[in-house]
Amino acid sequence: MNRSAASRREPALGPHLSDQLDVYGISRRRFIEFALGITATLGLPLRMSGQVLAALEETKARPTVIWLHFQECTGCTESLLRATHPTVETLLLDLISLDYSETLLAAAGHQAEQALHDSLDKNKGAFILVVEGSVPLRDGGIYCKIADKTPQQLLLEIAPYAAAAVAIGSCASWGGVQSAAPNPTGAVGLPEALRIAGITKSDGSALPVITLPGCPASPYNLLATVLYYLTLKKLPEVDAKGRPRFAYGHLIHDHCERRPHFDAGRFAEQFGDAGHRQGWCLYKLGCKGPETYANCPAIEFGDVGANTWPVGIGHPCFGCAEQGVGFHKALHEQAEVASVTPPSLFPEIITRHAGGVTAGAAAVVGAIAGGAVVYALGANEKLKQVEAQSTAVAKSEAEEPK
Ligand code: SF4
Repeated sequence: MNRSAASRREPALGPHLSDQLDVYGISRRRFIEFALGITATLGLPLRMSGQVLAALEETKARPTVIWLHFQECTGCTESLLRATHPTVETLLLDLISLDYSETLLAAAGHQAEQALHDSLDKNKGAFILVVEGSVPLRDGGIYCKIADKTPQQLLLEIAPYAAAAVAIGSCASWGGVQSAAPNPTGAVGLPEALRIAGITKSDGSALPVITLPGCPASPYNLLATVLYYLTLKKLPEVDAKGRPRFAYGHLIHDHCERRPHFDAGRFAEQFGDAGHRQGWCLYKLGCKGPETYANCPAIEFGDVGANTWPVGIGHPCFGCAEQGVGFHKALHEQAEVASVTPPSLFPEIITRHAGGVTAGAAAVVGAIAGGAVVYALGANEKLKQVEAQSTAVAKSEAEEPK
């Protein structure tokens, strides 16, 4: 049975998603698995996956997003556009109303400026401001200009009218690669730029800023943040650096598949030596996992297949997500070990990732106390129904004469 015939039988998930799931060949079962993985990534009890699924399906109340690019390489947008399982950019762009983005907007020049100002007028106090890239402060910020305005000028004009802001990537979170010594442009992240300029919301209250560091940031963490907001109608809990705890609450070191080797004292001493070839710990090669907080071991990186994150392919973690580590410490300098206590749950030495977010892997990092462990798919009626429909479609396909 071909896919178009199958899609005629499958009940639609939503006016947009049904088309996209079909076009991209994503089965309903995979979509549900994805929702489960995102729920686990968010650190929510998996019994809430029905609500996450509903937020994914909901296409009516889409928050408006204005996405500004400052000093950056556009890697965060690129990484978002190349994500899969299912195509994150498809889901994300279906969940939000992206009114302005210099990379994705079809319009250019005066038309693009018009789109920005129209959206600002229409959505005052109600839109989410996403910033990608750092803010140059030296010499009046002249090192980056958009429509003849510096990032600080744009922030003064736009940020007071946002409901909340998201700093995506290390550049926007704390300055990233541009802030590496000697920092010629005086680059800082969005929170610091807002603080220095004294920018608040137009009513004088503080503008909430979520930071999603990483170089590039994981698109799943952006999607998960948006889904958290849509599901629970509030922003996720953050740490002192503005990072969502669900994604940055644990050291990479505590969930790394090489951690048992670290605890057993088995280290690669050089690239290509016997220890390196056997997948031993990369600490002595400069791995910054012991001082970097991020969920890379669970959701991986680059999204191109099993074990594809730096440590998974044999390169020490660079600490790109951690302020003061990535781009500030030498690549092969040994990390400070923030925690020497072995985790209570060891990861497998060799993990078999299916790619993208897996519910099991993400649940470990999502710090779900008990909820995931006792979860049973049948606990949620909605999921049970969708699962039954999916099974029925698969059965009828199998029985259909060839
Ligand atoms: Fe993994 Fe690096 Fe920690 Fe070794 S030092 S266990 S490679 S994160």
